[in-house]
Amino acid sequence: MTQSSFEEIGAVLRSKESFAVLSHVRPDGDALGSQLGLGLSLSKLGKKVVVRNEDGLLEKYSFLPGGEFLRTPLGEPQDFDVAIALDTATQNRLGTATELVRSAKIWINIDHHPSNPGYGDLVYIDPTAPATGQILFELITSQGLPIDASIAENLFVAISTDTGSFQYPNTTARTFEIGAELLRCGVNIGRVSQLLYESYPRRRAELLRELLGTMRFNGHGKVASFSLSLKTAAELHAKPEDNEGLIDHLRAIQGVVVAVFFEELVDGKVRVSMRSKSDAADVCAICQKFGGGGHKLAAGARVRGTLAEVEEKVLKEICNVVDCNS
Ligand code: 5GP
Ligand code: MN
Repeated sequence: MTQSSFEEIGAVLRSKESFAVLSHVRPDGDALGSQLGLGLSLSKLGKKVVVRNEDGLLEKYSFLPGGEFLRTPLGEPQDFDVAIALDTATQNRLGTATELVRSAKIWINIDHHPSNPGYGDLVYIDPTAPATGQILFELITSQGLPIDASIAENLFVAISTDTGSFQYPNTTARTFEIGAELLRCGVNIGRVSQLLYESYPRRRAELLRELLGTMRFNGHGKVASFSLSLKTAAELHAKPEDNEGLIDHLRAIQGVVVAVFFEELVDGKVRVSMRSKSDAADVCAICQKFGGGGHKLAAGARVRGTLAEVEEKVLKEICNVVDCNS
């Protein structure tokens, strides 16, 4: 894979006319904030832009500036000069959004997942960046693309959510400098943080109560997990987005090295979400064994089988990797 430079990507953004800005299914704050941040910047540059995600704009991110542009990929495929995949480790994780842009002449792939194979014509992958939003800030500012308070707020949300509010070890000095720059662009940190972290629906707390009821420990307390069945999700009227971040309650326990969340899906698969507190426990490598991927300290996979079957084989594999004997 050859990496492109910001100059090469900037030249395409300036010279082409129509863009589709996409990101992965089950989007998180980095996916949606990155899509809207870059989408608004291109729009301000006078380009024709559509911003599409298979799951649309999640309710919890409905405050994001420009959120009305982020829609599900309905209707006939359209012609675009350029399709841009953001924060998306494999092209098939774009889901139905790909259908929309079959005819795009140029694909740009901007991401920070080390497992990204580098699909596309212009590729910029920086695994040291804590968020795709951080890469976009560097791209936008280095190329003199438009930035205003709305664009800054989207990039701030992208970076804040993927760094656990500037706490995870992927956070660098540069991340704080960018945070400061975004505040200078007009981000109201108190307001945004409250919308992000203190405005959860009550059903999310009820979901957490259920999940903690299923909490179990393996490997002498180094591996903590909980699981969500379709039945419980239905009883609580839980939305898929409600569980984003709940795994942090497991990671936050003293002695826990790997936290795992198992979620039963309708298609006979189980969504496995993993977090690690140690470079020695590379959860991306573990998830890749099950067809998934992600980062060293945060990764996921979708594994065929019942909840009980998947729990058993995944926990066994984790115990093979993490030294669970002491
Ligand atoms: P989460 O646990 O928050 O869903 O995902 C954590 C990280 O793992 C994210 O960076 C996400 O992109 C990646 N990830 C989650 N599920 C999958 C999957 O099924 N396949 C791949 N390749 N990556 C995943
Ligand atoms: Mn990300």
